[in-house]
Amino acid sequence: MEKIIFENGESVLRKGGFVMPQLIQASDFGKQLGCEYNPLGGIAVDSFGRTNIHGIYAAGDASVIAPAQVIIAAAEGVRAAAGVNMNLTQKEFLE
Ligand SMILES: Cc1cc2nc3c(=O)[nH]c(=O)nc-3n(C[C@H](O)[C@H](O)[C@H](O)COP(=O)(O)OP(=O)(O)OC[C@H]3O[C@@H](n4cnc5c(N)ncnc54)[C@H](O)[C@@H]3O)c2cc1C
Repeated sequence: MEKIIFENGESVLRKGGFVMPQLIQASDFGKQLGCEYNPLGGIAVDSFGRTNIHGIYAAGDASVIAPAQVIIAAAEGVRAAAGVNMNLTQKEFLE
């Protein structure tokens, strides 16, 4: 890299830089199901991955827009799995 040329024609000399991606949901599957979304644009879940719709869980990048990291997605998946397990096995968890 030598230079950045902006749309208005102005330019600045640079030897390198970082590109900041725009973090958006690639899928509107949650919206199709009627899930509520959090302020950052992910599907809103509680600490067990439960959405506002009974029986629908979300985890990983679907619910955590930032920071999007593999280890966080994996942990969210474990939380949601625990939620599913409790939903199936404990009556009081349903209420
Ligand atoms: C360019 C880039 C670099 C990154 N670098 C790092 C890094 O260095 N370290 C790090 O920890 N994290 C990094 N991440 C973030 C990390 O990749 C994600 O946080 C993580 O993969 C999220 O896991 P996930 O299972 O939630 O989603 P994903 O890995 O996106 O898995 C979702 C899966 O669902 C599938 N899918 C989507 N819609 C449907 C549908 N309707 N039906 C069936 N399947 C569907 C997709 O094809 C995909 O396989 C990076 C991400 C990007 C984009």
